[in-house]
Amino acid sequence: GANRCLKEIHQPVELGTQTVRPMASLGIALFPKDGSDMQQLLKAADSAMYAAKEAGKHRYAFYIPELTTQASQRLALEQQLRVAVDNNDFTLHYQPQISLSSGKVTGVEALIRWHHAELGDIPPSEFINLAERIGLIQEIGEWVLETACRQAASWHHDALDQLQVAVNISAIHFTDLDFVNMVTRVLNTTGIDPKRLEIEVTESVIQLGDNYSITCQQLDALGIKVAVDDFGTGYSSLAVLKQLPIDTLKVDRLFIKDLQHEAKSTVLVGTIIGMAQALGYKVVAEGAETLEQIQILRGLGCHQVQGYYFSPPVPADQIPSLVSKVHF
Ligand code: C2E
Ligand code: MG
Ligand code: MG
Repeated sequence: GANRCLKEIHQPVELGTQTVRPMASLGIALFPKDGSDMQQLLKAADSAMYAAKEAGKHRYAFYIPELTTQASQRLALEQQLRVAVDNNDFTLHYQPQISLSSGKVTGVEALIRWHHAELGDIPPSEFINLAERIGLIQEIGEWVLETACRQAASWHHDALDQLQVAVNISAIHFTDLDFVNMVTRVLNTTGIDPKRLEIEVTESVIQLGDNYSITCQQLDALGIKVAVDDFGTGYSSLAVLKQLPIDTLKVDRLFIKDLQHEAKSTVLVGTIIGMAQALGYKVVAEGAETLEQIQILRGLGCHQVQGYYFSPPVPADQIPSLVSKVHF
């Protein structure tokens, strides 16, 4: 039944000049197992529908009791995230980016931290997606940008006044119509030199429509750099290089992890670095944990490295002493 439904829905439909094939997610609840009245059954079917959505597009799923626990946990986290945004329960840590030619820290990446009084530290991997889904990511993104820029502007002695700061911006925020206005506002209120700011965005921006390209150009006009984060993990990777006017490529940890063990990884990373250099981009390797990886990356001509080998993300007050050291 469900499969036939999905097939029927997927029939081509004419919409003006376009032909589209609608997709659906179906949730199925059974009487009396999953509920004794209409309301309970609809709630169960709704949970099952979300499970179907999460499993991928155009699918169906049956209700199972675990879904209710999951749904209530999700709802609880959602409410806690709203409270955290209102109370400003976030902090930023900064991870140094080290130049492989000078051994010095040339920049830092700002990474958000959420400390919850009862649940402890909740990693961004557990709440950034949620914040995107419930429309809180813009508010969080603005707070991160402003806090990181204010921090960078306060680092204005010795080597610190050249220090770059990279800020992660979610793809859906980046393609927001108001995004560049917000960035301009933050530049003005914090007084940071735009040349010191880099915006990190994943290649999934391309899937969100045409706005990204204009945004990149407007940021470029402001003097701000754009980096593509987690490069190599999305399927549109090579299209990104052609379509986005960017400054920096960040090679995902996935490739760096296997550098010592797999000759193929070395070839792959070497090719990415060569390609990026030919196109005039700076290359940053993410998540280097061993000296061996760093030596291989240096041999391949990688410009900068970020990873636990040099330093994990740390509170802002630890950055000055890391900047004064030669690391390599
Ligand atoms: P990302 O932007 O790719 O950040 C790098 C992640 O790798 C960070 O995790 C960092 O702590 C971790 N990392 C760095 N070096 C190493 C290493 O040597 N080994 C290993 N295993 N991991 C390493 P984190 O802070 O948990 O952040 C995870 C992701 O969450 C980030 O990936 C980014 O996509 C997102 N995120 C973090 N902060 C923000 C934010 O302020 N805004 C948005 N929109 N996303 C953020
Ligand atoms: Mg990043
Ligand atoms: Mg990354």
